[in-house]
Amino acid sequence: MITYHVVSLFPESLDSYVNSSILKRAQERGIIAIKYYNPRDFAKSAKFDPDAVAKMSYAERRVDDRPYGGGPGMVMEALPVIRAVAAAIGKKKAKIIFFSPSGKQFSNAVADSFKKYTDIVFVCGRYEGIDARVKKAFPMTDISIGEYVLTGGELPAMVVIDTITRRIPGVLGDDNSVEERRVAGSDVYTRPPVIEYKGKKMRVPKVLLSGHHKKMDEWKTSLKLKKAK
Ligand code: SAH
Repeated sequence: MITYHVVSLFPESLDSYVNSSILKRAQERGIIAIKYYNPRDFAKSAKFDPDAVAKMSYAERRVDDRPYGGGPGMVMEALPVIRAVAAAIGKKKAKIIFFSPSGKQFSNAVADSFKKYTDIVFVCGRYEGIDARVKKAFPMTDISIGEYVLTGGELPAMVVIDTITRRIPGVLGDDNSVEERRVAGSDVYTRPPVIEYKGKKMRVPKVLLSGHHKKMDEWKTSLKLKKAK
């Protein structure tokens, strides 16, 4: 069982995705669990006192401020995030991921290297990012999900949760659905064998209807090579 701990100012933004389909089933079956920690709940008070924080106004619970050295936008303060991460870890040994567009590129191989942990903490930034001192409080791995900049780390958290989870044996109905365990083409087809749209007939490639497994694999491999070029 892997527990994903998501540190985020907008935890509700993950809800509909992680509570649908395969990720939902993986939670129901106890293969994964997802927990949330909002830095806003850990704002201000030097020693975290949940009762005091609960009584604070939204403004008092602010968690961002202007960047030192100038520049646009706001930066998330370090301490509320540090306290949220500390709450997530507790006494456990956890892997901590810090999302950043300049981090190490995420991939299937990176996902596999995370599968061995029972607890993974995701630190999701917003605005111009998080005060870099959070990275001095705990050992963390900087991860980017691609060469583009998003408004927050929540989509990256969903991407990483989804990628790791579908690679855990038993999560997908058929384990052969994990691409590297089979010959998989990027184009897939299902019934019916012929469809018609705007007077044009579109057919499933004949080889896939042949039932000849060796030929089908050869066809998928050649299609893959063609696309790679
Ligand atoms: N000014 C910042 C960008 C902040 S984007 C910079 O140049 O680094 C706001 C937050 O979204 C980041 O803190 C990070 O958590 C997340 N984020 C945005 N794009 C991302 C990407 N490609 N991969 C991972 N996280 C990303």
